[in-house]
Amino acid sequence: MTEQKAGKKKKSNRQFQAETRQLLNLMIHSLYTHKEIFLRELLSNASDALDKVRFQSLTESGLVGENETLEIWLAIDKEKKTLSISDNGIGMTRAEVIDNIGTIARSGSLAFLKAAREQKEGSGSEDLDLIGQFGVGFYSSFMVAQKVELVSRSMSGDYGVRWVSAGEGQYTIEEIEAPERGTSITLHLRDEVLDPKDPAEDFLNQYTLQNLVRKYSDFINYPIKINFEKHDSGAPVEGEEKKEKKQEFEVRTLNSMKPLWERDKKEVKGDEYFQFYKHHFHDWEEPADILHVKAEGTVQYTALLFIPSKAPINLYAADYKKGIQLYSKHVFVMDRYDGLLPDHLRFVRGLVDSPDFSLNVSREILQNDRQIKLIAKNLEKKVMDSLKKMLKNKRDDYEKWWDEFGKAIKGGIFMQWSNKEKLQDYLLFPSSHKTEGMTTLREYVDRMPEWQEEIYYEAGKDREAIERLPQMEAVREKGVEVLYFTDKVDEFLTQNLSDYDDKKLKSVSRGDFTLDDKKDDDKDKDKDKKDDDKKEEEKSEHQDLLDKIKEHLGDRVKEVRVSKRLRNSAVCLVNPESGPSFNMELLMKEAGSAPIGRAQGILELNADHPVFGVLKRTFTKNREDVWLKEYSELLLSQAQLMEGLTLDNPVEFASRINDLMVRATKG
Ligand code: ADP
Repeated sequence: MTEQKAGKKKKSNRQFQAETRQLLNLMIHSLYTHKEIFLRELLSNASDALDKVRFQSLTESGLVGENETLEIWLAIDKEKKTLSISDNGIGMTRAEVIDNIGTIARSGSLAFLKAAREQKEGSGSEDLDLIGQFGVGFYSSFMVAQKVELVSRSMSGDYGVRWVSAGEGQYTIEEIEAPERGTSITLHLRDEVLDPKDPAEDFLNQYTLQNLVRKYSDFINYPIKINFEKHDSGAPVEGEEKKEKKQEFEVRTLNSMKPLWERDKKEVKGDEYFQFYKHHFHDWEEPADILHVKAEGTVQYTALLFIPSKAPINLYAADYKKGIQLYSKHVFVMDRYDGLLPDHLRFVRGLVDSPDFSLNVSREILQNDRQIKLIAKNLEKKVMDSLKKMLKNKRDDYEKWWDEFGKAIKGGIFMQWSNKEKLQDYLLFPSSHKTEGMTTLREYVDRMPEWQEEIYYEAGKDREAIERLPQMEAVREKGVEVLYFTDKVDEFLTQNLSDYDDKKLKSVSRGDFTLDDKKDDDKDKDKDKKDDDKKEEEKSEHQDLLDKIKEHLGDRVKEVRVSKRLRNSAVCLVNPESGPSFNMELLMKEAGSAPIGRAQGILELNADHPVFGVLKRTFTKNREDVWLKEYSELLLSQAQLMEGLTLDNPVEFASRINDLMVRATKG
């Protein structure tokens, strides 16, 4: 054994964690028919590493030598049966190799295992591209290699590091002398993949590699080079018996490197955009739309934007970084620049390439740049136009898309009043109009009968919960359409979306409810008027009783009154015209945010209900009857329960019910 240099870490043997072992096992006994994708994954890692070093070199002179080309090399060794992929990218230190390659305690791996198992159980879906999706790309090399050797030297390290594993539970790692910055991965190919029947699966064949690079990695921004064996005529030259066949090589760059966005739209074939999107933005779902824009006017730029079809889990989390990549003349300048698209379009991925961006421009400078503002305006319009088209022409797709991203658009209205006009026509809500699908506000208004002046909505957990609410009884009877605010943010929206097309948005369970006044039919109007007059009379007639109930309930209710919205139920709780609603109260509680104070409701009683008769009789007999207090409490509790609220004292409620049962059987 050679002596280790002072300071250099010795070779050590390490175990993979159980989870990594499982993953490797899965790779080796792979369920994938497309083993070839290992190359795409390794090239994509190399390209990322080159991006990193190029980016860093913008601020760190001398990092990349003046004559140094950032590039990737493929090398075939037919004797040793190895294929290597090398880059002069950012490289890794020992610690980084252990972290990035030796461990996959990273979040993706567990999810990957689960998905892979599910896929195995299902059938025929092997083509689902799971490997890259979960960020376990490096491990795909074990699909074709019985041993993987990685040598890397970080830009910051004194030594290089060699990592070797046969993918069977352990790996070795040691520090070595390595003169160059970068990473080289050598795959010792498995017997099973050697000499395949189909040359397209022969990874030691330069043509196979050439085809694979063109297929998957053509757009990689760095040359992928190989020493290409020139064709030998094969015929021995006369008089030169036994001459060794001389191998001749030429350096060949396998990828065209022409960025996809620079190509003519018409030239981009089939799923090239999708392939690009997948590997550039790590999203494995086909985007809902792709916008490829070239502008040559006051501002010159090319933009390639993708409207995803599936939202990343953290889209609405505080740590989500929105933004578009910036390039200047094909050279990457900045990732996730957030000044090009408004917050409500945070889901858009893509890039903008403009000769006007300078390579080391800062975010602050960009923020005030007139060009950027112009580009931002144009891009926002393009995205909104695309969504409008989808809403108009592909309604089903839009509804699916809305499920994923609707919250972002709603957020735009909630956060900024000035967005209302711009965004309100993109909103979708379920409604009582039909049991499935959604409606736009425009469609709702177009269906409104002439007499109806307001747009009605009701908030709740879901369609069923809303439909069960006693407050819905009268609107249902009148056949008035109600928008269902089933998304948590919906009700908050009304702060900025107070009206649409000059019609106010009105909650079915808020404030005064005067649906009855609004019938254009004269006879009905008369009848309604009479009804109302009767109700007014009743109101004053009942006022003493109502006051008594209010006295019993104290501050827990704002008011006790006779209801105009109930038909079958005895009681309901409604929200005053302004202030937090019960639904908001529930949401804030759920979200664990500071209590906004208990929403103080109005208790409404149905004067036509037999229960009201009981109250009335008890009250007339004896205004101070103790049972009146008990009844008041019971009515408030049941109204709270119907709203989905929790009772302050459920034990007391139960004991009141028991008392009532005992009293009932006593007669
Ligand atoms: P992903 O690329 O999705 O993160 P991988 O398993 O393919 O997952 O790679 C794990 C990590 O290893 C990468 O994120 C990167 O930090 C590091 N890595 C892989 N290949 C290279 C390379 N050629 N140069 C530098 N770092 C690399």
